[in-house]
Amino acid sequence: MKHALNTTRAADFAAWYQEVISAADMAEESGVRGCMVIRPWGYGIWERIQRLMDDRIKAAGVENCYFPLFIPLSYFAKEAEHVDGFAKEMAVVTHHRLIGDGKGGLVPDPEAKLEEPLIVRPTSETVIGAAMARWVQSWRDLPLMVNQWANVVRWEMRTRMFLRTSEFLWQEGHTAHADRDDAMKETLRALEMYREFSENVLAMPVIAGEKPEHERFPGAVATYSIEAMMQDGKALQAGTSHYLGTSFAEAAGIRYQTSEGGHDFAHTTSWGTSTRMIGGVIMTHGDDDGLRVPPAIAPWQVIIVPMLRDDEGDAAILDYCQSLVAELTTQSALGERVRVHLDKRPGKSAGKRWEWLKKGAPVVVEIGGRDVAAGKLAAIRRDALYREDGKLATEFPERPGFVSGIGVLLESIQANLHAEAKARLDANIVRDISDWDGIIAYFNGNAVPGWVEISWSRPTGAALDAVVEKVKALKLTMRNVPLDADPASGTCPLTGEAAVERILIGKAY
Ligand code: AMP
Repeated sequence: MKHALNTTRAADFAAWYQEVISAADMAEESGVRGCMVIRPWGYGIWERIQRLMDDRIKAAGVENCYFPLFIPLSYFAKEAEHVDGFAKEMAVVTHHRLIGDGKGGLVPDPEAKLEEPLIVRPTSETVIGAAMARWVQSWRDLPLMVNQWANVVRWEMRTRMFLRTSEFLWQEGHTAHADRDDAMKETLRALEMYREFSENVLAMPVIAGEKPEHERFPGAVATYSIEAMMQDGKALQAGTSHYLGTSFAEAAGIRYQTSEGGHDFAHTTSWGTSTRMIGGVIMTHGDDDGLRVPPAIAPWQVIIVPMLRDDEGDAAILDYCQSLVAELTTQSALGERVRVHLDKRPGKSAGKRWEWLKKGAPVVVEIGGRDVAAGKLAAIRRDALYREDGKLATEFPERPGFVSGIGVLLESIQANLHAEAKARLDANIVRDISDWDGIIAYFNGNAVPGWVEISWSRPTGAALDAVVEKVKALKLTMRNVPLDADPASGTCPLTGEAAVERILIGKAY
C-alpha cells in the first residue's frame, strides 16, 4: 500500500518522526541549536493541552503565578550546597549592552558587565522558594500551592524536536506543606493527575511509579514519573512529580510557626510536564500517513473541504458547508463544543484532503455539488483511514445523521486511539523473566523490544552504581517501580539478592 509519507515507521523510526513533524506542519528548526519554531497546528495542540491541564491544576486548588525569566546566580549556589557534584547545563547572562566592534559587528560592552550573572531559568524551585519564604509565616499559610506556565532553558547536548529541546514550554507546580504526609499526598496527587491526563486526554497509556534513587531530581527525597511506550518500544518519561523533603525549604528559608508556637521547615514538592508530551503523542499515535491527533487535543476536530470547481455552482457548495459548520458547532463531544474548520483556501480538494490527513485532523469531510443536491457528505475518519482493499475508507452519510452522531464519532476515535496504544503497551511488557540471561535474550532477540518488569532488590550506593552500569551496557535504563505492580518474589537478576519490589527496564528516549 502506498502511504503519504516517504519514510515508514518500520524502515527508520527516527527519520519517520522527523518527517511527521514537518509533514504535519508541527514545528521546524529555528537556526539556534535545540530551539524550535512551533507552527500553528503544533501550537494549537499545545494550547489544548495547556487548557485541559490547567483546568485540572486549578480544580486541585493550585493557583497560577509568574516568576522572572532571569534568576541570580547566587540562588543556585544555595541549592548546590545540598547537591553532590553540582553541574548543570545552563544559559548565563553576563552583560546588559552591546557595542560596535569597529568592524561592523557587535560585541558585549565590557563596561556593561553584570555584577552578578543571571541564569536563564532551567526550573524555578529557587526563585519560587525565595518567594515562599516571604509568603509563609505560620501554619495558617500552608499548604501554599502555585503553578507557573513558562518557557525554560536547559543546555541539552542531544536534542530532538519536542522530546528534548534546549528551550521548552512547560508547567511547573510548586507546593509547600506543614508535614511530610501532606507533601507526599500532593506529590502523588500530581502524579495521578498526570496519569489520568495522559490516558484520557492524550489517549496515551502510561505506567506511574517511583524512579530509582539514581534517577531522582537532584536534592529530591523521592521522584515519581509516568512512563509511556512509544511505537518503537522505547520509554518516554512524560511527566515527573518530586517530594523534596525539607532540603529546599532549608536552603530557601521556608519556615513557619506551628500551631503549638514552635518553628518548623516546610515540606515542599514540585511537578512538571512539558511540550515533550507532544512528541509522545506523535510517537504513540502517528502512522505512515502522518499524525493522528486525539480529538480531545485537536485544534480542529472536523475539517470541511469544499470541492470547488471555479464555476457558478461554488456558491451553493459554500453555503451548504457554512450551514454544516453552524450545525456541527452546536454539537458536543468529550464535554465541549465540537471544533469545526471550513478550509476555503483555493486549491485542489485532494491536496487539501491529504494536508489535513497528514496533520491528523480526526475527521475530514468533503462536499461536492452532488452532495449538496442529495443532502449528503463524504467523511473520512483519520484513525481508520483504509478499507481492507487499501482504498480510503470514506463514508457517505446523510447530513442530519452525521451531525447528530458527530459527538459519538469523535468520542469513539478518542477511545479507539487509546485502546490501540493500550493493547501495544500490554503486549510489550514481559513480566516473567527472572534471570539476567533472560533479560539479555529478550532485548537481543526482539525486533520491537518493549520493557521487562522484574523483581529486584532495590540496591543503594555502590551496589546500585554497579547495577546501573550493567544495564547501561545493554543500552537499557531503569524506568520506574510501578505503583500498582504485583509483589516481588525470588532473587533479583541484577544483584542476586532477595527481591523486594518490581521495576521496569527498557530502552528510553
Ligand atoms: P524535571 O524538572 O527534570 O523533573 O522535568 C519535568 C518534565 O519536563 C520531565 O518529566 C519531562 O517531561 C520534561 N522535560 C525535561 N527536560 C526536557 C527537555 N529538554 N525538553 C522537553 N521536555 C523536558
